[in-house]
Amino acid sequence: MGWDLITKTPAQRAAANLSDYPRMRETFDWAQARTRLSGVPGGGLNIAYEAVDRHATGPRGDATALRCLSATGTTDVTYQDLLRLTSRFASLLDTLGVRPGERVFSLLGRGVELYVTALGTLRHGSVYSPLFAAFGPDPVRERIARGDGAVLVTTPELYERKVAPVREQLPGMRHVLVLGDPPPGTVSLADELARCPDRFDVAPTRARDMALLHFTSGTTGAPKGAVHVHEAVVAHHVTAAWALDLRPDDVFWCTADPGWVTGTSYGIIAPLTHGATVVVDAAEFDAKRWYANLADQHVSVWYTAPTALRMLMRHGADLADQYDLSALRHIASVGEPLNPEAVVWGAQALGHPIHDNWWQTETGAIMISNFPAVDIRPGAMGLPMPGVDVAVLRRGDDGRARVEGGEVTVAAADEVGELAVRRGWPSMFRGYLHDDERYARCFAGAWYLTGDLARSDRDGYYWFVGRADDVIKSAGHLIGPFEVESALMAHPAVAEVGVIGKPDPVAGELVKAFVTLKPGHEASDELRLDLLAFGRRNLGGVAPKEISFDQHLPHTRSGKVMRRLLRARELGLDEGDTSTLEAPV
Ligand code: ATP
Ligand code: MG
Repeated sequence: MGWDLITKTPAQRAAANLSDYPRMRETFDWAQARTRLSGVPGGGLNIAYEAVDRHATGPRGDATALRCLSATGTTDVTYQDLLRLTSRFASLLDTLGVRPGERVFSLLGRGVELYVTALGTLRHGSVYSPLFAAFGPDPVRERIARGDGAVLVTTPELYERKVAPVREQLPGMRHVLVLGDPPPGTVSLADELARCPDRFDVAPTRARDMALLHFTSGTTGAPKGAVHVHEAVVAHHVTAAWALDLRPDDVFWCTADPGWVTGTSYGIIAPLTHGATVVVDAAEFDAKRWYANLADQHVSVWYTAPTALRMLMRHGADLADQYDLSALRHIASVGEPLNPEAVVWGAQALGHPIHDNWWQTETGAIMISNFPAVDIRPGAMGLPMPGVDVAVLRRGDDGRARVEGGEVTVAAADEVGELAVRRGWPSMFRGYLHDDERYARCFAGAWYLTGDLARSDRDGYYWFVGRADDVIKSAGHLIGPFEVESALMAHPAVAEVGVIGKPDPVAGELVKAFVTLKPGHEASDELRLDLLAFGRRNLGGVAPKEISFDQHLPHTRSGKVMRRLLRARELGLDEGDTSTLEAPV
């Protein structure tokens, strides 16, 4: 099915931060980018300094850094406030004897304290690692243990439910600081902070010092702990300027949970390095509330995810029409394939097409993007960031990039291969904690192999095909689940789809689709036949042969369809690591 190009007007192009993509692609290098940041006076590079101090002491000092929405009202935190709050937290870590490089974990909902913990930790020179507040005791224990967590900041309720049952198994965790009355074994964060000065010289960390530990989403297996360094801030800052079009006077809302890499790279660090105002909403997804946030907070740049967009689409454009979204200037999405319908729906219902972005926990920042000044091909992930060398590598029999004598071959235009990024961008992960061997396996010569399959078209746009682990081999074809899912999404009854390969004696594997229906549609044999025929018409030989209706597709907590779980359930296999599985609703 063809989708029309969404073209940008000359005025739109001229207005974008990155107005001349082709020129920047030619001329940009990361050394230039470094000069956009200030560095710690006297030497060093520190994420917190770039996010907080630089603005607190400048013209944006009394501008709102965080606008936190909660059931009890709205709290505004200025850059100067944030400087004091994070300095006090850094002093506290110092008082507690926490050493630079030690790990500080947060298990918190979205609120001021989470930001203070993250930025205070970085200011102190220790390493920040976020946990998703909805994790159960086992995932919490496993990550703190693997990350050698020395400090945890959480709430009394979360502590009692998720940490107390496993505390004995975490002997290295010396301090638990809680927001409220401390249960046994913990201390009150507020009481401790009250004893500490609100001045703390930012740690003169080096660019290569460890700053962040991020666990991956666990979509394809057990989550891995990706190590990031302070230098990553260079990429956070520049990608936010170019891919998200961020400016100091923007009101920015990133809906990703801060427990994941997006919620930290773009929910905390990147917008603050621009001196923007960040909207923080404690509440979970609710279509009306989200529209109201966009309207009432005058959000100008919105960074969200395909699952959220699909949920809004289920409510129809009528709901969007009831809100004044005129402040919006740019909408971007990340985390999963963004179906072309959603891109186009954005233009119709929200006044702006959705700009897809591709990156991973390991890449630390946006690598491929639909830039504001560049025409959109709905369904494509976009073009590489200036300064980032991306390629599709030719595959071997196992479906991964073929490596011979450390060498790889770049695939031809339109040929499906493994997506790879050439080493040397600032936010590249520097290891999987305690797993050097796995880290080494991610590289072939100069290339980092992403585990995703893609193709690039003749104009250099990149198209997502699937995870190397999810690809279906049927009757000699290699089929990317995303292509099949997208085609079925175009059917008016379909809200969401997960596609897997199921062993088949003749074809090797056959394509099976699990379909969630939109409200107002009932599962029936007739609809199943209609969908099968619809698939055949649009996909030909790669169309699904089997369709099941499933109103509760398994998702990771970061919103991705967990195809490996659909497959394991279908085949009666062990479900593997399900620590990041979202509780069924
Ligand atoms: P794990 O590595 O533990 O299996 P994960 O890969 O889902 O989990 P993340 O780092 O959170 O963990 O997600 C990155 C992945 O998400 C990418 O490798 C890709 O598969 C998918 N992804 C991200 N953005 C896009 C996009 N725009 N289009 C398609 N897929 C995307
Ligand atoms: Mg991954």
